[in-house]
Amino acid sequence: MSFALLKTARRNIGVRLALWYAFVFAASSVALLMIAYYLLAVAVGRKDHEVLEARLQEYAAVYESGGLPALRDALQQETGDSKTFYVRLVNAWNEATLVNVPEDWIAFKDIPGGLAGYRQRVFIRIPKDAGRDFLIASMILPDNSLLQVGRSTDSRAALLEPLRRDFALYGGVTIVLGFLAGVFFANRAMRPIRQVVATARSIIQTGQLDARVPARKSNDELDELVRLFNGLLDKNEALIRAMRESLDNVAHDLRTPLTRLRGSAELALQPQAAPGAAHEALADCVEEAERVLNMLNTLLDITEAGAGMMRLHREPVDLCGMVRDVVELYEYVADERKVTVRTELPPACEASLDRNRMRQVFANLLDNAIKYTPANGAVTISIEAEPSQAVVRFRDTGVGIPVEEQGKIWTRLYRGDKSRSERGLGLGLSLVKAVVEAHQGKVEVVSRLGAGSVFTITLPPKTGQTTQP
Ligand code: ADP
Repeated sequence: MSFALLKTARRNIGVRLALWYAFVFAASSVALLMIAYYLLAVAVGRKDHEVLEARLQEYAAVYESGGLPALRDALQQETGDSKTFYVRLVNAWNEATLVNVPEDWIAFKDIPGGLAGYRQRVFIRIPKDAGRDFLIASMILPDNSLLQVGRSTDSRAALLEPLRRDFALYGGVTIVLGFLAGVFFANRAMRPIRQVVATARSIIQTGQLDARVPARKSNDELDELVRLFNGLLDKNEALIRAMRESLDNVAHDLRTPLTRLRGSAELALQPQAAPGAAHEALADCVEEAERVLNMLNTLLDITEAGAGMMRLHREPVDLCGMVRDVVELYEYVADERKVTVRTELPPACEASLDRNRMRQVFANLLDNAIKYTPANGAVTISIEAEPSQAVVRFRDTGVGIPVEEQGKIWTRLYRGDKSRSERGLGLGLSLVKAVVEAHQGKVEVVSRLGAGSVFTITLPPKTGQTTQP
């Protein structure tokens, strides 16, 4: 495997997971096999002890009943398996009176001398002597002599050795199979992640916003991730589309005043233009420039308010007076569109507000109400001055807003489908909401298609401290 391939494999979570899985699996398999082997070895060892113990008891009984000759006879009569035992008798003066070494213990000389004086009933394991292990059991007899019975543990080794080989072989095979299974499952588990990466890459590279990760039906965390990721893409797509549309709208809405501005400027620049006409053209220029500036300022204001940074210059304001001012401002427009504007105001209603900002809010709501109300319709502005709050309503008998649009109209640069024919940027209501919320108030709409709309502003106690008549 080349270095680059190794580096890629290391960066691949699937490979890393598989390696970790294989490592943990191998370690636990080895530990399991070792434990099994150890328990088996212990069980076999225990069996050896039991056999030796039984033999020790048997020889002790023979010795106690018939003395040394009886024991010697018994040993001579033994055949087959029984001959595999080493028997040694040491008298009270530490002299070996009987030593019976099995025929195949060729290399065995004698047990270490120290053992002869070993005066306890005990099992002793003598370390390897010429390639053999021995287990010796000792016992003190009533006449104070020491009886020792031993056995080579080669049979145990013979039993355990193939087992060790089998364990190594099957363990190895299991580990390899486990590793391959790990690679397979890790690879499968990582598939959704790879699809998420591929989708993100394709969107970045091709700019096609409609790419989505294929949905799964496993209902697990990765499924959730895929769903969230697709949801995020849906939102982003909608947002980007809305932004593109908005940008188109802004460009479109900027083009008209700028074209007019250029036309007026050209008119003013004509050498043969009369001084009065040139002056008028320049005045038009200023007006159009003002319009463009207003639009850009509104955009900035909304951004500022959205970031919670709108500065308010609060002062006691007569809300009723402000409504009258705005109505007066729009009198001409309303007349032109044959829309009646009425007010239902209390004698006085004072609140602590930013005068200019709130006037913008009222102007926008009245402007919309007139704009979206057909000829012969009516707009009513009412104020309810309560001790704790002020409620200002703009009610119209206009075209109304479809239910599915009611949540969107507050979005920056959003324009209703039916409003395209009217002038506007889709900024009015976002500014209204931003300013009202900066005053800790709220604005809501209730509307029925074809019947009209009611926009209600509620200014809370702090901002809406009202004085009653
Ligand atoms: P616009 O410049 O389009 O008027 P606004 O932000 O003021 O932008 O309003 C957003 C949209 O809300 C409008 O395009 C229109 O569809 C809808 N709307 C606002 N006020 C009214 C109203 N009084 N009657 C019907 N529709 C309205």
